[in-house]
Amino acid sequence: MPVAQDWLGPAKDNMRAAVLTEINQPLQILDLEQEPPKAKEVRVKVKATGVCMSDWHIMNGDWPLPLPMVLGHEAAGIVVENGPEVDNVKPGDHVIFSFRPHCGRCRYCSSGQTVLCIGHNDTPRWRMHDGTARVRLNGEPVNQMARIGTFSEEVVCPAEQVVKIRNDLPFTHAAIIGCSVATGIGAVIRHARVPAGSSVLVVGCGGVGLNVVQGARLADASPIIACDLRDNKLQLARNFGAMHTINATGENVVERVREMTEGLGVDTAFDAIGSETTALQVIEAVAPGGRAVLVGIPAFATRAPINPSQIVYGEKVISGTYYGSVRPNIDFPILADLDLEKKINLDDLISRTYRFDEINEGFALMLAGEVARGVIVFD
Ligand SMILES: [Zn+2]
Ligand SMILES: [Zn+2]
Repeated sequence: MPVAQDWLGPAKDNMRAAVLTEINQPLQILDLEQEPPKAKEVRVKVKATGVCMSDWHIMNGDWPLPLPMVLGHEAAGIVVENGPEVDNVKPGDHVIFSFRPHCGRCRYCSSGQTVLCIGHNDTPRWRMHDGTARVRLNGEPVNQMARIGTFSEEVVCPAEQVVKIRNDLPFTHAAIIGCSVATGIGAVIRHARVPAGSSVLVVGCGGVGLNVVQGARLADASPIIACDLRDNKLQLARNFGAMHTINATGENVVERVREMTEGLGVDTAFDAIGSETTALQVIEAVAPGGRAVLVGIPAFATRAPINPSQIVYGEKVISGTYYGSVRPNIDFPILADLDLEKKINLDDLISRTYRFDEINEGFALMLAGEVARGVIVFD
């Protein structure tokens, strides 16, 4: 090895990434120095990455996290380099990023609840497993959201957070499988295990909620009732399988749901938003013996005053599902197959694609309710 290399440390490359340096400010696309993958890490060239409310929760301070941070967590790409001791993927493989680690050894990984993995809880969720950063700005470490930070031309991350998928799946579709599709469909199929013929309410018809709707259709639920504040989202929900819709701007959601279900309420109700109002709506709208499922992640400060006697008398279950309770290594390839077999509809979810430098416009249109899902596509 040349002497100069010893002095300079490991070879570094530059790449562009969208960095949040301060809350309530736009993302800045900056040149970052990136270190090559260390042991059990890979480098992935990102091909497509979705714009998600979870990124926005960090941008607006709902989830106070240490900055600067490269945001982005819903993405797909091609492996370009393996560090030592990587055996699950090789350069050239197409992969979907998982935003949860999977140590394979902890009690949750061992029992199949991999999204609850605690195997790396000794290091922050925005650094590699050895506690160090792989990207730097002017020599200072930059954090990566969920240890991936996919608003980047290239990502170095733990190899356990990429899942190999078939090469004929379009990257835009692969990207959204990594968050909204897995979360929404997983909430129905993997978490609530909705039986055929049972009734479902979905509150919130954004990227996750529309996938809850199509998950309910996949499960043969009936009726499927969708609720949102915007008529364009309700029309989309109908295209994805909703049989009845409620615009919550002018209607009482719980009363309308009871009218549609012989006064009882639904068997399973999903909150795809994550707010005090929507959490209380789904708890009230479930029938006795039913289940209210909290899917959308609220701001950390959110609280909701539930009525415990209603839970007791009605034998209601309230449960949370994180990442749709999927097991990414098993479920991402299944979702890819379902897409290519046309059993789920991802084309109509992707209502806009953007160039990388249009990323802030992507957030503006998402907040305006103009898109089902917007996806950034890299060259
Ligand atoms: Zn997301
Ligand atoms: Zn684990």
